[in-house]
Amino acid sequence: MKTRRDFLRISTVGVGATALGLNAFGKGKFKWFDPEADEPVSDEDLTPYATYCEVCFWKCAGWAYVDKAGRIRKVVGNSDDPHSNGRLCPRGTGGVGMYYDEDRLKTPLIRETKSDGSQYFRKASWDEALDLVAKKMKEVKENYGPEAFGLFNHGNPGAHLEHLLRAYGSESNAEPAFANCRGPRSSAYFSTFGAYIGSPENTDIRDTECLVLIGSHIGENMHNSQVQEMSAAIDNGATIITVDPRFSTAAGHSTHWLPIKPSTDIALLLAWIHVLIYEELYNKKFVDKYTFGFDQLKEHVKNMTPEWAYGITDIEPAMIRETARAMAGAAPAVVVHPGRHTVWYGDDTQRERAMAILTALLGAWGKRGSLYLPEAVSVPKFPQPGYPEPEWTWKDLNEGKFPLATMGITTELLKASIPRLGYKHQVKAWLVGGTNLPLAMPDKKLFKEAADSVEFIAVMDTMPMEVTGYADVVLPEATYLERYDFIRAAQNRVPNIALRMPAAKPKYESKPGWWIAKQIGERLGLHDFYNYDDFSEVIDWQLKQLGTSLEEMKKIGVKSFPRKSGPLYLGENEDFTFNTNTGKVELYSVDFSDHGFDPIPVYKKHPEPPQNFYRLIYGRAPMHTFSRTSNNHNLWDLMSENSVWVNPKVADLWGLKRGQKVWLKNQDDAVTSFPVAVRVTERIRWDSVYMVHGFGHSDKKLSRAFGRGASDEEMITNVMVDPVMGGTGMRGNFITFLKEKPASVEKEDKA
Ligand code: SF4
Repeated sequence: MKTRRDFLRISTVGVGATALGLNAFGKGKFKWFDPEADEPVSDEDLTPYATYCEVCFWKCAGWAYVDKAGRIRKVVGNSDDPHSNGRLCPRGTGGVGMYYDEDRLKTPLIRETKSDGSQYFRKASWDEALDLVAKKMKEVKENYGPEAFGLFNHGNPGAHLEHLLRAYGSESNAEPAFANCRGPRSSAYFSTFGAYIGSPENTDIRDTECLVLIGSHIGENMHNSQVQEMSAAIDNGATIITVDPRFSTAAGHSTHWLPIKPSTDIALLLAWIHVLIYEELYNKKFVDKYTFGFDQLKEHVKNMTPEWAYGITDIEPAMIRETARAMAGAAPAVVVHPGRHTVWYGDDTQRERAMAILTALLGAWGKRGSLYLPEAVSVPKFPQPGYPEPEWTWKDLNEGKFPLATMGITTELLKASIPRLGYKHQVKAWLVGGTNLPLAMPDKKLFKEAADSVEFIAVMDTMPMEVTGYADVVLPEATYLERYDFIRAAQNRVPNIALRMPAAKPKYESKPGWWIAKQIGERLGLHDFYNYDDFSEVIDWQLKQLGTSLEEMKKIGVKSFPRKSGPLYLGENEDFTFNTNTGKVELYSVDFSDHGFDPIPVYKKHPEPPQNFYRLIYGRAPMHTFSRTSNNHNLWDLMSENSVWVNPKVADLWGLKRGQKVWLKNQDDAVTSFPVAVRVTERIRWDSVYMVHGFGHSDKKLSRAFGRGASDEEMITNVMVDPVMGGTGMRGNFITFLKEKPASVEKEDKA
């Protein structure tokens, strides 16, 4: 039976190749950058345009070089930029492939239904598409109130839509970057230190003497300046301690690799804390002056010895002691990296709390080589009226759960979209910007049911991602190289800003996100919130308040400002009040206790893989960012598909050979749509398998990425929800191998 909203593969429905702008560059014919621009050109014949990269969210500033014919020839780093230090990573260098990608969304599309009930996309004019979105927004507002229009957002595109929704009267928004990624560390570090970690992380890696990575994959997670700093730390002889069930790139550069049994990290952290306290290796000065709850912590970890942890973690007691002593020897110049993708087992805020407590015991906060005190430029708000006050917001969608959530929770927004779940506040329509939800979210069934339940979905994106297949209206956005965006004002050692401006005209009929949001806003009568003709006016006004101008920023790209908040590090014995309930670093969390959570982290056992199943661990590759880059021809050239890492013992048991294609099946009988090649390697524990995330695309319009590798998301059906802040723990899924194509996949192929 057909669902109300068929998933539409853009390439195959409704319109022909011409209407969608498909061109002649098929698989194997693409070239680096502009296929028409092969002749060499010197830098003197190129004009640089200031930009900051959008291939990932590190936002490195650089220059896009354009030739006399208006073709972008290269993108390089801006040497004044602390995110890139003048060097882009391989993905950033290849980012221009996003601009030249022949599979891009080229025109607005509107979903239509034929008399036989089948659905298709038809090419639409911008007026038709924008009118339809505005009409639906008006209808939802009249029928249910503006709050019933939800937004899934990420990055700059999402921020333009967020401004639109707030002006319209809704604050029902969520971004996967919170509950599906960084949320646990936000809530944990805020409860402990009264400060968020932020992005880029305020880790003083370049000057550290000891870097502790717990499931943090620097080098595979290619965050530019962080990788550069880790490389400097290694050159400087820093001790690197990597805790990972997999021999990752970082583990390969480490002094100590601790191949921990998955899901037992809290036990290791508590044992380290035990050693620091009971061997009196902790930083007494820091603990006495700045912390709250030391006595309770000491009592709590009394019996959590390395021997206790050994039986849980598989890490030998001598190694636990040796690494704890190495940290203490380097303190306070220690970075216990807080991680980034932190949603693993549903008790992730507690694991992050344990990491924050370890940091505090080492006095590794506000000191050279530890976590420095970051500062960001406060960009003045362009003069506009205040947003209307919604009657309810994303907080109400949590229905009293997750008291320490600081942002909307994506799964709750999905659940509130499904009437049968009976949420008090219901979401009836969605805007989606900058996030490919089906591949960003665990629990595909939930997403599908929610998408089928809502009355309307509009998606703004540059590429025909899986999420566009669920849209009623598709709004093709210009790439980052073709548009103005918000001023980048992220925290760093020195406050700084960066400009993104268009280096080229938007290709095809795509439009900048700010333009799309403004057009919809004006159709809704929200003129006061769009009191400019071009977004460059907003930027210029803001820059002038900061003592610079658009004209100057076009020439320099990045500008730094003096710090206003004081030095980068705490002074010796300096008085400091932390933004917590007690004004101290809370080893014992008053917030957690008040909300009924363990005030000091407790290790709890998690389920283990059933017989013949293996725990699925996923991660990233240095040349790709999630699913968003797998069709970029420059990056596809470097890595076109993922593989599944299998320990040789397991491969022997199953008779699996290197390169053999297998389908994966999980504990809930979910099967991957595509097979994946086996990589037999000692670099993974026998009880786990590993895959790079972001492959196994099912949209045929992605001519290179379609069907390449397998999607780890399809195997994530068991989600362990963090009661503290709603994080979606995804590492409680177990897979087994299928050597033959399963009947269910055969059936779907035919359909
Ligand atoms: Fe771009 Fe690489 Fe920087 Fe990410 S780390 S913003 S991909 S250059």
